[in-house]
Amino acid sequence: MKVAVIGAGPAGLAAAIELAKLPFVDYSVYEKADKVKEVGAGISIQRTTWRMLEVMGAAQYLRDSDRYRPDDDHYVRHYNGRTGKLIATHFQTNIPENQLHVRCQRATLQNALLRANDQSRIKTSKKLVGVSQLSSGRVRIDFVDGSADEVDLLVGADGVRSVVRAHLFPRHAISYTGRTVYRTLIPTDQARTIPGLPVGAVAFWHAPKGAWVYTCNLGGNVFELTVMTNEPLNEDEQQRVSWGEKAGVEQMQRHFKDFHKPLQDLFDLAPSVQRYAAFAGPRLPTVISGPGNIALVGDASHPLSGAFGAGAGFALEDAYSLAQSLKWAHIQANPRPLAEALRLFDKVRSPHYKRLYGVLDDFKAVGENLAAPDLDLTGDEEVAVLVAMNWSHRHNWIIEYDVTKEFLSFVDEADKASKDSDGSVSRKNAACVNVLEAPLRASLWGRRIVSYASPE
Ligand SMILES: Cc1cc2nc3c(=O)[nH]c(=O)nc-3n(C[C@H](O)[C@H](O)[C@H](O)COP(=O)(O)OP(=O)(O)OC[C@H]3O[C@@H](n4cnc5c(N)ncnc54)[C@H](O)[C@@H]3O)c2cc1C
Repeated sequence: MKVAVIGAGPAGLAAAIELAKLPFVDYSVYEKADKVKEVGAGISIQRTTWRMLEVMGAAQYLRDSDRYRPDDDHYVRHYNGRTGKLIATHFQTNIPENQLHVRCQRATLQNALLRANDQSRIKTSKKLVGVSQLSSGRVRIDFVDGSADEVDLLVGADGVRSVVRAHLFPRHAISYTGRTVYRTLIPTDQARTIPGLPVGAVAFWHAPKGAWVYTCNLGGNVFELTVMTNEPLNEDEQQRVSWGEKAGVEQMQRHFKDFHKPLQDLFDLAPSVQRYAAFAGPRLPTVISGPGNIALVGDASHPLSGAFGAGAGFALEDAYSLAQSLKWAHIQANPRPLAEALRLFDKVRSPHYKRLYGVLDDFKAVGENLAAPDLDLTGDEEVAVLVAMNWSHRHNWIIEYDVTKEFLSFVDEADKASKDSDGSVSRKNAACVNVLEAPLRASLWGRRIVSYASPE
């Protein structure tokens, strides 16, 4: 099976790692940039992301010195940005040591994924410009340099402005969310000179209307300053800023004029800032093509604009589920068509994203309630309600979600359906799978990978 992955961001690199485990797949990754790189500030690696990095063999490349975890293992602290008062501290409980939340530079995560890849499969300076379905059932892909390829499966991992998604859903259009992010990095030893700044904290500093400042050590003498603003932008600005542009520090600072002194001092240390307008589009109920030969993963399918600090983790879970679905279809006694594999992938992932969108709807409802004209709250009171409602433990299920177990439950269902339709199940021990406990089933499924690699 010939597969093309478009994009070498977290989603594309993860897809490539997982596809490399499938001996029946011949894959290439096409990236428009001239090299695989990641710019920008910090990124959270949550439990779900760690789980995937371990499965993918990339966790070993994230060195302790390149990441930051507070000594007391708090996950996050929430402050009132105006007064500097600590509102809440969330600790990580019942999480294995190796899966505790850390922050690192985005490039650190990218490099770890890159190192776990067969880099000879990654073709750079390959900007996809066209996709067409062929009567043979294959997909043709055209690049800006005039070259083309034909594949059995096209994986769109090309981010929020996905060309692959535009082919699949021509009427789907992304638009400005009204939220603009500013990000910069400051040497940690400079941040340490600011009296009253909790340099060791993973800290959100909240303002009314969901605006915030985020400060965090990233390891290696790098300190992150990211802010989220509600910024009206005209059409021109939206287009320009959507790709990220250099901005003046005062542009960022003007939103937080009443913030307490240590943060003003930190703004003053910012060498320059990058400004990004957040874009999103209508939610896709499905992320596969009708003919069953195109699938979207990562932000190409569901850009969540950083809402959960776990989008890269979701992208990795997509990649894992897609490859596992291909494997499932292939190892059946009567191998299933590609379209069926993609349906399984979609069945695993789309409901999860639907639940995540439900959380976004909750956030929105809280914001609308707080904006009600008859609700006479001070800014500080609004901040306290926002933190209690939107940043509580009630959304912990997101980081507790285990895609490997989730996938197995869908495999059980799919195996059963497969058996019902032709009286057979997958080649390797699948008849036992249904009666085994989850961890055992997981290891059995793992063995199926191993035994598959050297077919009988
Ligand atoms: C403010 C903010 C904070 C965030 N914080 C976190 C966090 O803390 N933790 C976390 O896990 N996630 C976080 N995220 C989300 C995370 O950044 C994304 O979900 C993740 O980068 C998605 O990866 P991706 O590979 O799908 O897309 P991208 O990272 O966008 O990669 C897409 C790749 O495709 C390439 N490409 C695009 N078009 C083409 C084309 N036509 N041809 C060839 N190649 C192409 C691009 O060059 C790029 O390399 C945050 C997001 C935002 C906006």
